[in-house]
Amino acid sequence: MTKDYYDVLGVSKTASPDDIKRAYRKLAQQYHPDVSKLDRKVAEEKFKEVSEAYEVLMDADKRRNYDAYGSEGVTFGSRGFDWSNFTHFQDISDLFGGMGFGGNSLFDFFFGGPSGRRGNYPETGASLQYDLEIGLKEAYSGSNKRLEIPRSVKCDQCGGTGAEKGKLEQCPTCHGSGQLSYRQSALGGHFVTVRTCQTCGGSGKVIREKCKSCLGAGRKQTTSTIEVSIPKGAEDGMRLRIRGAGEAGTNGGPSGDLYVVIHVTEHDKFTREGENLYYSVEVPFTTAALGGEVEVPTMESMAKLQIPSGTQPGTVFRMNSLGMPRVNGRGNGDMYVTVKVAVPKKLSSEQKQLLRRFADLEEEKGKGFFSRLKNT
Ligand SMILES: [Zn+2]
Ligand SMILES: [Zn+2]
Repeated sequence: MTKDYYDVLGVSKTASPDDIKRAYRKLAQQYHPDVSKLDRKVAEEKFKEVSEAYEVLMDADKRRNYDAYGSEGVTFGSRGFDWSNFTHFQDISDLFGGMGFGGNSLFDFFFGGPSGRRGNYPETGASLQYDLEIGLKEAYSGSNKRLEIPRSVKCDQCGGTGAEKGKLEQCPTCHGSGQLSYRQSALGGHFVTVRTCQTCGGSGKVIREKCKSCLGAGRKQTTSTIEVSIPKGAEDGMRLRIRGAGEAGTNGGPSGDLYVVIHVTEHDKFTREGENLYYSVEVPFTTAALGGEVEVPTMESMAKLQIPSGTQPGTVFRMNSLGMPRVNGRGNGDMYVTVKVAVPKKLSSEQKQLLRRFADLEEEKGKGFFSRLKNT
């Protein structure tokens, strides 16, 4: 059955190239699969149909043949019109240049780029995420962990090719070259563009018999032991990337990556903020008043903190370099120690006596202060 290209574009048999171009641009916008209200597949078919009509009517020779013999007078090879026959994408690239098709360039849409994948393209495997909980001590000293990761790996029977015994055959579409050339017209001239063959994904080879072990998938499900090294000073939420430890790729593509997300649990003594640690120490009220030395725990052992006389509750002391190690290896953060003054709950009678005496002395000191105030 002959196709009515004039009807498809909605132009008369005497339409000029300009008329045809205008009509086609309008329809192309209408059937753009990303904006069309039609079902995506239908829109793509429609878009292809108007493009076929445009390809014929814009080419003087093809149009003459078509006018004389109908669509049988115009051939596009054994399988009919496809995008490789379309030489006018420049005429509408300005319409969709900024938009592309489904995230692909217009060129990719016409020539079966990423979204139009039909062949055995090698593709990178998916990434995996593993949530790993560690304690603050482990984050402080760093460690090596062995993780059991369920993942897919390359099939060992076919070497990931998916073909029985790894035996691949020459691609019938490109005859093993992996490339196809397309003639295009642009900027008033013709040029030849070389594109990757869709059937074999550029490998030049296809699978004739599927691998019996993996049924052609080229990969198998397994559990791998992955060693991961947690750096000193690892922070909560840190992501460690282990290249190639994700899911196996397809068609010989590389494996994806594994992301280990670190979760640092809370510590019973220390609070952490970035590279610094915070700690509260109880100091006897006598030490706070008279001054002295107290012991404070650190991530490694214990340290001595000098308390000056007259230290007030809530005073914060900084202990240099006793915080978390910096991930870049350049030393440690600090530890901040807040003083809590401990008031004794039980006193012996002797202690009570001494404290009463102390209170009396304080009162006298106060009176002396007021009397001095009066006399001035
Ligand atoms: Zn296999
Ligand atoms: Zn090929």
